[in-house]
Amino acid sequence: MPSPDPQLVSLLQDLTRIESVNPSLSKTGSGERAMALYLQKYCEERGLACELQEVKDGRPNLVVLVPGTDPDRRILFIAHTDTVPVDKWEDNPFSGDIRDGLLHGRGSCDTKGSLAAMLRALCTLGARKPKATVVLVASIDEEYRKIGARAVADSGVAYEAAVVGEPTSLELVVAHKGSVRWQVEVEGIPVHSSRPHLGVNAITGMARIILALEELNRNLSLRENALVGPPALTVSLIEGGIELTTVPPACRIWIDRRLTPGESPQGAIQEVEDILKHFRESEYKIVARSLLPALEDPAPLSAEGSRIAEVASQICKDVAGTGTFTGAPWGTDASQLTGIPCVVIGPGSMAQAHTSNEYITLDQLDYAVQIYQRIMLEY
Ligand SMILES: [Zn+2]
Repeated sequence: MPSPDPQLVSLLQDLTRIESVNPSLSKTGSGERAMALYLQKYCEERGLACELQEVKDGRPNLVVLVPGTDPDRRILFIAHTDTVPVDKWEDNPFSGDIRDGLLHGRGSCDTKGSLAAMLRALCTLGARKPKATVVLVASIDEEYRKIGARAVADSGVAYEAAVVGEPTSLELVVAHKGSVRWQVEVEGIPVHSSRPHLGVNAITGMARIILALEELNRNLSLRENALVGPPALTVSLIEGGIELTTVPPACRIWIDRRLTPGESPQGAIQEVEDILKHFRESEYKIVARSLLPALEDPAPLSAEGSRIAEVASQICKDVAGTGTFTGAPWGTDASQLTGIPCVVIGPGSMAQAHTSNEYITLDQLDYAVQIYQRIMLEY
């Protein structure tokens, strides 16, 4: 295995040394601006046309454009610049240090490795022109609401296909799960707990609903999706009651519902609504409702059968011996790119993403550059 391109490694070290923790996830997070400005300078010094796309609160996407031989076709490459916060690191979380073939630091694997490889793929095209116009977006906020990718989708530019950079160990992910999260509230009637029969206990009412949701989850687990597994429902948070001697007037839960491709957030909410309706009309007369709007992160449709999946599969096979269509339980920027066939490929393993002492193995970086570049030239 030859050692990776030194320019690629030093770019990835620089990116890892720029703290870009998502400020929506940590009060001390600096956000993506410094990364975007670094990337802008990097591109300009290498003659790549680029611009900042302001998204929100001084947090810009960086958009790089390389015209193709066919000006009517566009392909999107996208990798995010934000990271999750750091917690319990043994040493400097932004060191970018290399030890034993591993480059260490928050974001090295998720997903600055993919971003650096995509950028190097553009920088090393030389005189060769991509077939379709390539637009590379370094997107903000993937780790929270994905408003960077949302801005790309809302920009009105039509893309034939997208390649999303995330650490897949160079496996070709053509489908992944989405999620929808919202609250359900049960309303009770508070009275002194010495005479509970005069009130309505919201916690007891919620308990019945939770058991019904558990039953729903058992049924969901039977709806196996060949690529991503079955959907799932978790009651992840609960709060209720006001003090020790009052029958609780309210109880709330958060529901985390994982969606498979083809399921809609609205459909998942409706399944729960049907359960609530049953309890409202049952002998218990539970006053229960969903609190909306929900946090929605749809599951993109599988890219199986699309041209980008076919082209990427062959190239992954040639370069890295991967390319079998796989699915993933996690989400990506693809969830915002409705209607665009998306594949997810990148160097590094999801097993290191979001961990303390995150790192990326250097040996997949060159392959990633080759894969991205061949897709640019051949799609
Ligand atoms: Zn990521």
